[in-house]
Amino acid sequence: MDLTRRRLFKIAGFTLLGLSAKPALDVFSKADLPEPSPVAGPSAQKRWAMAVDVKKCWSLEGCTDCIDACHRIHNVPSFPSPKEEIKWIWNVPFGKAFAEHDHDLMEEGVPEKPLILLCNQCENPPCVRYCPTKATWQREDGIVMMDFHRCIGCRYCMAGCPYGSRSFNWRDPRPFIKNPNLEFPTRTRGVVEKCNFCEERLSQGKLPACVEACKEKALIFGNLRDRESEIWKALQGKHVLQRMPELGTKPKVYYIV
Ligand code: SF4
Repeated sequence: MDLTRRRLFKIAGFTLLGLSAKPALDVFSKADLPEPSPVAGPSAQKRWAMAVDVKKCWSLEGCTDCIDACHRIHNVPSFPSPKEEIKWIWNVPFGKAFAEHDHDLMEEGVPEKPLILLCNQCENPPCVRYCPTKATWQREDGIVMMDFHRCIGCRYCMAGCPYGSRSFNWRDPRPFIKNPNLEFPTRTRGVVEKCNFCEERLSQGKLPACVEACKEKALIFGNLRDRESEIWKALQGKHVLQRMPELGTKPKVYYIV
């Protein structure tokens, strides 16, 4: 296929959602997907990823089932002040999440629609490089972990994350957890936290809580190194955005538009 035809297909894809064709860089291509690992070892053969089918998500207006499920099982506190908000999954207007897109060319209302955000579990995570105590690190399967006990609260990881995916407990969060889940640790004042792709559930063969809670099946999770996986198939031939791919972080959260 010549370049001109390829570009025309991309433009057609954006037009489906009323999005600008300008950020062609963001359009998903096979080059963005990890190849099967030559390394033996079961974890290295996995690359966990999440896809958000944006139109399906928008079909149930006002739904926060994924956020509620995540925050409930991970003991995420509800502080009264938005300035202290602890974010594992949250939403922002689409136009803010993809601010680099030309909003004038989007369908009316699209820039204001809510888009769910979470830690991108970057393939190349700057937060990990910034952490001086190795309280955050990356597993072989790509998940970026947090050891709450090793965190000294310096917040270098927050400065390093370009996506605002990390939150800091300015005060003791425990009084602000309604019904604590005794199977997941609570945090203390002075500790950073973020989404962990439900690694504690994956180890039991379960899907992430947000994926399980979504009635619209708008969230798809799986191993991108498995060509038979649901997520691999869901991304094929689709027009997909990643947040700020130009930074080279290689986010593992994909938005199907
Ligand atoms: Fe780290 Fe932020 Fe990437 Fe998550 S989104 S892995 S916190 S840099």
